[in-house]
Amino acid sequence: MKGWALVYEGFEPRQERLREALCTLGNGYFATRGAAAYARADDVHYPGTYLAGGYNRLATEINAHVVENEDLVNLPNWLPLKCRVEGSSWLEPASAEIESYHRTLDLKQGLLTRRVVFRESNGRRTRFRERRLVHMHYPHLAAIDLEVTAENWSGTLEVLSALDGRVVNSGVARYRALSNRHLEALEVDDVDDETVYLKVRTLQSRLEIAQSARTRIYQGDVRIWPSPRLERDAAYIGQAFAVPLAQGETSRIEKVIALYSSRDRAISECGLAAREGVARAGSFEQLQATHLRRWNQLWQRFDIGIEEHAAAGTERTALTLRLHIFHLLQTASTHTIDLDVGVPARGWHGEAYRGHIFWDELFIFPLLNWRLPEITRALLMYRYRRLNEARANARAAGYRGAMYPWQSGSSGREETQPLHLNPESGRWLPDHTYLQRHINAAIAHNVWQYYQVTRDMEFFSFYGAEMILEIARFWSSIATFNEQLGRYEIRGVTGPDEFQTTYPDASEPGLDNHAYTNIMAVWVLCRGLELLDILPEERRRELREELGLGDEELARWEDVSRRMRIVFHGEGIISQFEGYEALKELDWERYRRRYSNIQRLDRLLEAEGDTPNRYKASKQADVLMLFYLFSSEELKELFDRLGYPFEYETIPRNVDYYSQRTSHGSTLSRVVHSWVLSRSDRPRSWQLFKEALESDIADIQGGTTPEGIHLGAMAGNVDLLQRGYAGIVTAGDVLWLNPCLPRELRRLRMTVRYRGHALDLTITQSSITLHAHESNAAPIQLGIVDNRYLLQAGETREFSL
Ligand code: BGC
Repeated sequence: MKGWALVYEGFEPRQERLREALCTLGNGYFATRGAAAYARADDVHYPGTYLAGGYNRLATEINAHVVENEDLVNLPNWLPLKCRVEGSSWLEPASAEIESYHRTLDLKQGLLTRRVVFRESNGRRTRFRERRLVHMHYPHLAAIDLEVTAENWSGTLEVLSALDGRVVNSGVARYRALSNRHLEALEVDDVDDETVYLKVRTLQSRLEIAQSARTRIYQGDVRIWPSPRLERDAAYIGQAFAVPLAQGETSRIEKVIALYSSRDRAISECGLAAREGVARAGSFEQLQATHLRRWNQLWQRFDIGIEEHAAAGTERTALTLRLHIFHLLQTASTHTIDLDVGVPARGWHGEAYRGHIFWDELFIFPLLNWRLPEITRALLMYRYRRLNEARANARAAGYRGAMYPWQSGSSGREETQPLHLNPESGRWLPDHTYLQRHINAAIAHNVWQYYQVTRDMEFFSFYGAEMILEIARFWSSIATFNEQLGRYEIRGVTGPDEFQTTYPDASEPGLDNHAYTNIMAVWVLCRGLELLDILPEERRRELREELGLGDEELARWEDVSRRMRIVFHGEGIISQFEGYEALKELDWERYRRRYSNIQRLDRLLEAEGDTPNRYKASKQADVLMLFYLFSSEELKELFDRLGYPFEYETIPRNVDYYSQRTSHGSTLSRVVHSWVLSRSDRPRSWQLFKEALESDIADIQGGTTPEGIHLGAMAGNVDLLQRGYAGIVTAGDVLWLNPCLPRELRRLRMTVRYRGHALDLTITQSSITLHAHESNAAPIQLGIVDNRYLLQAGETREFSL
């Protein structure tokens, strides 16, 4: 079990929400936080259940403004399974002493186990063992198996099993002033002596959610049939059972639930589907077997074997990497393929960022591309279906083409909140982060990367190409020509660094000639031009016709892509944006002394009446994103095209410059910094990799993980091993491997998929071993460091480094 189990000993109320987030179980269709089955939402616990893409909009009045937010809705709680000895209080931390508390998240099996011994004031001891799963093969099912042992008493155990729809969204303290009641109850029903049923509807999006719960009770292996006492109100229904227990005896309670929504396919009505779902479901044991089989298959594709020189470190690293993969697969799985959902920055694990979809896809998709690209395809389709909304968004802002929103939810309209609360100052402030137009480049990049790895021409020509062309058109239309400089410019945007949104004395937000944005725009325009040559003749004609893409427009793309402006300062420093040089240096030492944690320097400065906009201070990697996404050769090509100098030294110089000015206030930041140092400063890269690994498991931001995991950093971390340290790159039709393992790493093992092949890779400091599984895929070209080889299915090859 080493390296596979996240174990928590003891009950620590202040850690509980973090543990609940990290112990979330999900299957890509829905997810439930790892709260105890007896827990209610209170200061300690937050039992949330979320449907992938289950959003609802609500309006709130703040400072005389009506703001509307679209939230990922907390659904009825299906967990409640409580016990008490007849006549006394429900057994929970508030009413009984906890003698022992032990929780294990078994990543290999996708199983959460909790063992608790409660001791009541009269000395009565009751032992619980709860096992839980959210089914990875049957996406609508979840189950709890609870064993209750009367340690030193005999009497009647009362068991209550319920579905509770009286929930609101209250998982994020910062959002508490906002409207949070998203659900109305439609129906509750006791179907039979083992089954209850609840149906609710979201108030605005009119999404119906049905849950049905089946509860069975066993004494030893024998099922018993106590008659239930019903508890119900408009949005709640439960069955209470009286179970006789003699001292030392164990009763086993099995709760299986089904969850359906009105958006599901192949159903008549979600309530009916939920009732049938539990009626047909197997026992916990049977469900566990099929669940495990599915997880085994997923681990065969996704597990990464890592051996460090220091054995002690290996276990924690391996465990954390697996935890990251586990949460990725619980958020986006093969079940996603049939849904219309994106990949949320914070997983379906909590309410932070409202389940919205950001540019974090850029950090997440590579891991999927190389293992289960069918999932990436589905997630890219989420974007394609919102292309018309992006077109409308561009038109409304005065541009052409498609302008995707910074935050996306149900329809693809801009979901960035207009106002956000600074918890440090208590002030509501306008949120300008929606100006991060670079999201569009990320989407185009994601389409391109997916195509590079898979060569899925079907997707590319019918969906991907249209997105890239429309995004290229947007970049061309937002660029304006500066006659004096003879260069194109992009004004009034913001970059990944969310500390910098406004010039110090400006009345309007937005920055000019933001380097990362401008270069990405050029890159997209180049791909737009290139893809017209890649597409089959007929499709090219159709697309040009449909989009009205004439020669004149393409000539402009060509021109913009050659004369975009980039601003530099100092010795070869790429200015994050025009005017960056004039910003003041921040006294980092002073702030580090004054505050224990300066990652969210923006909030600290605002609370002091200052603003980060005045300083050369970044929340996260911004210019450095260029070195994260492109090789030095690719960048040189882009700079050459623009007529700007680029030497290899540009990279370390800029990395050094911006590293000194970054607070890492986003968990994405360390991943990028580690990556860009992976070849030039391996010890520092490794250190940052290790720090990034701790982002969620240790909640290094001090309180954000309880509100939802950071999926971009989680997946980005694993991808850092995969593409970064293992050095996997596709260029044209060659799969290049150019590893640069940090000294601390002895061996790296993984299986990647590439153009129909499954390739087992083992990389050490001195060798690469490659085995292509048997298949009928065509041979591929392999590039090892500087040489090329042909690799056939079934072949094993070893190369010395
Ligand atoms: C980061 C963004 C990121 C978002 C969602 C923010 O804190 O600055 O880059 O996309 O979180 O993860």
